[in-house]
Amino acid sequence: MGYKNLVDFHVHTDNSCDGHDSLMVMSERAAAKGIRAIAVTDHAECHRYYKDNFHLAIRYSHFETLKAKNAFRGQLAIMTGIELGQPLHNLEAAEDALSANRYDIVVAGLHLIRGGDDFWKLDYHNANVPTLLHAYFDEIYEMVCWGRFDSLAHLTYPLRYIEGRDQIPVDLADYAEQIDRILERLIADGKSLELNTQGYRTEYGRPTPDMDILRRYKELGGQYVTIGSDAHYAVDIGANIEDGLSLLKQADFDFVTIYDQREPILLPII
Ligand SMILES: [Zn+2]
Ligand SMILES: [Zn+2]
Repeated sequence: MGYKNLVDFHVHTDNSCDGHDSLMVMSERAAAKGIRAIAVTDHAECHRYYKDNFHLAIRYSHFETLKAKNAFRGQLAIMTGIELGQPLHNLEAAEDALSANRYDIVVAGLHLIRGGDDFWKLDYHNANVPTLLHAYFDEIYEMVCWGRFDSLAHLTYPLRYIEGRDQIPVDLADYAEQIDRILERLIADGKSLELNTQGYRTEYGRPTPDMDILRRYKELGGQYVTIGSDAHYAVDIGANIEDGLSLLKQADFDFVTIYDQREPILLPII
């Protein structure tokens, strides 16, 4: 513990539909915690992009990020970013989001499968969990093949709710082939896997993905891992990043990846 190179590359501000604090407040908090760099990755939920005004929100977010970047120069590096949610559900929305601003990092996540509801809204006691998860990993693979992003966000996102909240155990060995296919494709394309530490702060108590997948990614030749708290409140900025870095070390990674103008930079875990 006590890492010098603390970074948080998945952060939401009040320009995200579900963010609560302004970037200025979040940045102050990050600087006070000794974090070196953050990336603002406010949501663009592509399946409801125009209906819920994400096309406007991401432009405000970018503008606020540039302001904060200047205000905190020398204290905290603030990178521009976006979290594209289910881009394949509306490719035109995804293209608009990608071309709207110049990003340092684009993270892509899948929060629901086609025709479904967000995983946090589902009740898994009355659902066919294996069917859902097989469909989920298939869609993730499709998204990875599409490839217009830098880091794959929270690969095991549904487990926060299935195992964490609803306490239904899942054996990821049942999905090993699908997960391997995803990891191999990320590696072949030089993309990052994200270690998302939000799960540590929930009933789930673990990051997404967890150790097994990190180890497998490494074994298959994976090199790039970004890390993010997925903070939606200032108080959570940088939360559990040290736990995540320790886990990465245990999985034999010596570097965490950050992005500048969509180019990966390897930062030693020290
Ligand atoms: Zn997400
Ligand atoms: Zn997020």
